[in-house]
Amino acid sequence: MAKSSTPILVSACLLGHPTRYDGHHAHCMHPVLQQWIQEARVLSLCPEQVAGLPTPRPAMEIEPSHDGIDVWAGRAVVRDQEENCHTAFFISGAQAALDIVRETGIRIAVLKEGSPSCGSSFIADGQFVGRRVMGQGVTAAALRSVGVQVFSEHQLDQAAAWLMECEHSQQV
Ligand code: SF4
Repeated sequence: MAKSSTPILVSACLLGHPTRYDGHHAHCMHPVLQQWIQEARVLSLCPEQVAGLPTPRPAMEIEPSHDGIDVWAGRAVVRDQEENCHTAFFISGAQAALDIVRETGIRIAVLKEGSPSCGSSFIADGQFVGRRVMGQGVTAAALRSVGVQVFSEHQLDQAAAWLMECEHSQQV
């Protein structure tokens, strides 16, 4: 990595790894992300896999009317459609992300939108009907709680602009 390059935490599924609950990936070919990969800035993480959840795994959603902020604060749970609670895995995955932040000083992340871990603007509504609501996932909430800038794969141009501004102002 070049001396001035800032590391960026990226959801593993966006990098083409088949880590999603259904065993698929969500490979993102956006030129900004591809450039960061070439510059060796990218650190890959799947919070759910690193926490020990299997792949494939049941779809899991944060309980209705809550989001990752509430889960991270211990006020809400994440469960599957059979009402099995998986909250501890989501907390563990978020803690793994914070460990990376502590080890690397990372200040920016690009996470897969809509996920109960990685969503940054919206998540499922908790009723397993395919409906999305505004909110963020558990890892996104944990990262933001320590000041990490979290973007989705739909905001890569904004993420690049933020990064450029930081590097130019020598704040990172
Ligand atoms: Fe992708 Fe995040 Fe889900 Fe892992 S937890 S599959 S990185 S969206």
